Amino acid sequence: MFEKILIANRGEIALRIQRACREMGIKTVAVHSEADAEAKYVKLADESVCIGPAQSTLSYLNIPAIISAAEVTDAEAIHPGYGFLSENADFAERVEQSGFVFIGPRPETIRLMGDKVSAKDAMKASGVPCVPGSEGALPEDSDEVIRIAKDIGYPVIIKAAGGGGGRGMRVVHTEAALLNAVSMTKNEAQTAFGNPMVYMEKFLENPRHIEIQILADEHGNAAFLGERDCSMQRRHQKIIEEAPAPGLDPKLRDKIGERCAEACRKIGYRGAGTFEFLYENGEFFFIEMNTRVQVEHPVTELITGIDIVQEQVRIAAGEKLSFRQKDVKLKGHAIECRINAEDPYTFVPSPGRITVYHVPGGPGIRVDSHVYQNYVVPQYYDSMVGKLIAYGATRDQAIARMKTALSEMVVEGIKTNVPLHQDLMRDTAFVQGGTSIHYLEHKLAAAKKAQ
Ligand code: ADP
Repeated sequence: MFEKILIANRGEIALRIQRACREMGIKTVAVHSEADAEAKYVKLADESVCIGPAQSTLSYLNIPAIISAAEVTDAEAIHPGYGFLSENADFAERVEQSGFVFIGPRPETIRLMGDKVSAKDAMKASGVPCVPGSEGALPEDSDEVIRIAKDIGYPVIIKAAGGGGGRGMRVVHTEAALLNAVSMTKNEAQTAFGNPMVYMEKFLENPRHIEIQILADEHGNAAFLGERDCSMQRRHQKIIEEAPAPGLDPKLRDKIGERCAEACRKIGYRGAGTFEFLYENGEFFFIEMNTRVQVEHPVTELITGIDIVQEQVRIAAGEKLSFRQKDVKLKGHAIECRINAEDPYTFVPSPGRITVYHVPGGPGIRVDSHVYQNYVVPQYYDSMVGKLIAYGATRDQAIARMKTALSEMVVEGIKTNVPLHQDLMRDTAFVQGGTSIHYLEHKLAAAKKAQ
């Protein structure tokens, strides 16, 4: 096992990884920007290194600075967390070339899955069902593009092969709008992702977002840890996640989960990963794979009892998975609310000093957050300041506990989206379960109209 790990991230995930390491007796190195010098996880780490100014391009995305920090501290492995460099194949390669272990998949795998066209091809070849669409990237020939759309049937969605973070997508309802939409998406894709390649999919009108968590080691073992429902989204950004997905047939879960595990064995996947699907009318359609730990991993940890971050570390150290598929038992229900420093209804970010801070507790409550009273939320990064997670024997109990926890939570000095979560925990459709990815946008639009 490693003696020392460098954590190439910030915020709650940096603290989460640090806690996992501490429990395993592994020393940690925190790297931080000038804006994060006072952060809790920086103070709690065994060592810390400042890697640059506040701007993430100069610090958390600064590959040479991170590698040097690993060199000067004699760290053996680097955990990238999520976001920042976590899905950057060049970073993974540089880490390994410099003699460190990258806690994640091999660079080739990250590259394969980072291109959504090649990812879909690989999944199709492994028998994972995909959203019906173009065979690979769209051709130059306009007549051919029109024919492909006709075959798929409108509405269709044009997506950038190199896209991410909910950007580089355009829905098309009619043939008249098709070619213009394709050329606009290509231009945007070139500017935003440096890759003009786009592809086409059937636009599903009322799907849920359901994803499968997997863990795979270097010895050919792969297992799935059930699913998460992340349909409560705004602008393709998840706000609430839960496990298991309400009302999902366990037989269907096992079937799709086994396909994902098999795909991992086939492509020689290593580490933690998530297969994201759209789910509509009882069918799963693969959209993309994330080759890192997800924000929402705690809900899976609570219903399986498996520590996903510790498994990532063990896998990277060359160990075998510490369990088998038959040992994975889903028990109870977990819900996560992402707590963001933002206006609950306009979503305008609200950085600044937290003047009063009280966190909830009690049975089944887990709070993953790096903030504290007097902490200043910097303006430079993502607005998420923590995650509130509630576990219960049943979904109803998890919701009841979440309601209590939200009512106990006090954050003053900045605005947070706690009131929105309180609304959603009372929302009849949410309480019933199974809302689609468009539900929250529709609800917010209706509320605005009623004003
Ligand atoms: P990104 O990598 O940018 O997150 P994804 O391919 O994962 O892109 O898609 C993000 C979101 O966009 C999905 O969760 C869903 O809300 C929507 N979306 C993507 N593809 C489709 C589709 N074929 N039909 C309907 N909605 C889609």
